[in-house]
Amino acid sequence: MKSRVVPGRGATWPGVPVREYKDRPELFRDVTRRVLLGGGAPGAAEGDGLDFELRYFEVAPGGHSTLEHHRHPHAVVVITGRGEVRLGAERHEIEPFDAVYVAPGETHQFLASRGERLGFLCVVDRERDRPVPLAGGDEET
Ligand code: MN
Repeated sequence: MKSRVVPGRGATWPGVPVREYKDRPELFRDVTRRVLLGGGAPGAAEGDGLDFELRYFEVAPGGHSTLEHHRHPHAVVVITGRGEVRLGAERHEIEPFDAVYVAPGETHQFLASRGERLGFLCVVDRERDRPVPLAGGDEET
C-alpha cells in the first residue's frame, strides 16, 4: 500500500465523504460517519492493508448513537465538542482528549447531551460482528 496523507481541516476532511451512520434511523439521532483510513476510505486499496479502520463520528447537539453491543471492541478518542458515553450501567462525561475503551459485549452509546456536538475518532477491527441494537436508546436508563 502507498503511504498517504488525508488532509484535515478542523474536524472535517475535504476528500472524505460523509456517510450514512447506520440503516436503522429510528435507533439513533443526528450522527454522521467518515472512514478516514482502512476499509472503505477513499484511496484505501485493499483496506490500506490494515486490520482495522479509523473512523470519525460526529453527533449533533441533542443527538445520540445507537444503544448497542457487539463482540468487537472500540478504541475512541474525543477530538471535538463534549458529551457523554454510556458503558453498561455507567454514564461518563467525555470531552477532548478523553480516550474510551469499549470492551467486547459492553452495551454502549455516545450522546451529545451537553449542548455541543460530540466528535470522536473510533478504531475498530476491519472484520467484525454486526452490532446488536437495543431498544430504548432515548431513555435515561
Ligand atoms: Mn459500537
